[in-house]
Amino acid sequence: MSANRSTGGGVKTWRQQTRMVRGGLARSGFEETAEAIYMTSGYVYQSAEEAEAAFKGEVTRFVYSRYANPTVAMFEERLRLLEGAETCRGTASGMAAVFAALMCQLKAGDRVVSSRALFGSCHYIIAEILPRYGIETQLIDGRDLSAWEAALAGGARVIFLETPSNPTLEIIDLAAVCELAHKAGASVVVDNVFASPVLQQPLQLGADIVVYSATKHIDGQGRTMGGAVLGTQQFHDDHLNQFLRHTGPSMSPFNAWTLVKGLETLEMRMAQHCANAREIAEFLESQSGIKRVLYPGLDSHPQTALARRQMQDFGSVVSFEIEGDKARAFRFLNALRLIDISNNLGDAKSLITHPATTTHQRLKPEERAELGIGDDLMRLSVGLEDPADLKEDLSQAFNA
Ligand SMILES: *Cc1c(COP(=O)(O)O)cnc(C)c1O
Repeated sequence: MSANRSTGGGVKTWRQQTRMVRGGLARSGFEETAEAIYMTSGYVYQSAEEAEAAFKGEVTRFVYSRYANPTVAMFEERLRLLEGAETCRGTASGMAAVFAALMCQLKAGDRVVSSRALFGSCHYIIAEILPRYGIETQLIDGRDLSAWEAALAGGARVIFLETPSNPTLEIIDLAAVCELAHKAGASVVVDNVFASPVLQQPLQLGADIVVYSATKHIDGQGRTMGGAVLGTQQFHDDHLNQFLRHTGPSMSPFNAWTLVKGLETLEMRMAQHCANAREIAEFLESQSGIKRVLYPGLDSHPQTALARRQMQDFGSVVSFEIEGDKARAFRFLNALRLIDISNNLGDAKSLITHPATTTHQRLKPEERAELGIGDDLMRLSVGLEDPADLKEDLSQAFNA
């Protein structure tokens, strides 16, 4: 109900960083400085008549925290301002956001076209869950515009894509793919987690809906799960709102508080993540024993020109292939002393994962091969430590 609540004050003229510190703030009668945590499931009515009016939708007010909550609404409004969307809704996790954004607008008989280089659970939804409900799905190489064109010739209700992709950092031409999708009458859902709202604005490039795992950079400190769906008022009112209300993937007010504070520093943290990641990527490229470094900001990345066109900077994740087999990859991982082995990303702490045996373990070997996820591939989420310490740690592990 209050997902799109206006914040008054000077919000319309505030610049982005001011909005990230103050946007959406709704103070209670106690005039607290920081955003308040409203840990309440329900709300009370002054009269039976008021309750009736609330349920009829005649008055706009908080009714039940599965529908809306004041702390969650502050997070939603702040992220909405950053993205420049008409509406934003918080969810319990990134996957809840992805699933709701797709399922709320799909029905049996619909067709979905998706890029195949996806986060593991997104791949599961597209390849396994949707087809069970009579939704036809097709996975394609998202870098290839002719593959989109061919797949969209059969029509589609929704297209789904992730750019840069996890874990191989493939880049998809957002403006071109949105144009092809719209010509085919499809709505475009973009998973913008790797870029974050600071580095890439899919709505401005033509996308209809953007989804986030707020667990990643928006929290950025490894503390909480969260997600968000951003789009038009019409998409929200016609599809998303009732789906969220009645299926209940709601964000906890406490988590929303953590995330609304995360937005205050997101831009600064992203700038440092990108600077550190670039330094590590260049360092890795100079090392022997490394076959290939994947980072969209490197001249060696096959799609760096496209990345430079549609992104402001290139993110926190660097992937690389080392010489040798799985045993050697594991020896390298186990020799790291500072960088933690973890499947998470976008944390202040540097985290490394071996996608073939963790996040993308579920895929068939031929699917992994198609995506370039070999036993030699590492995904490093570069944190906010001093990069000199990270380089020392990587060097000693390579030598081990
Ligand atoms: C982590 C992630 C998700 C899922 O988010 P959760 O908060 O873990 O549910 C979806 N897409 C991408 C690209 C991710 O990195």
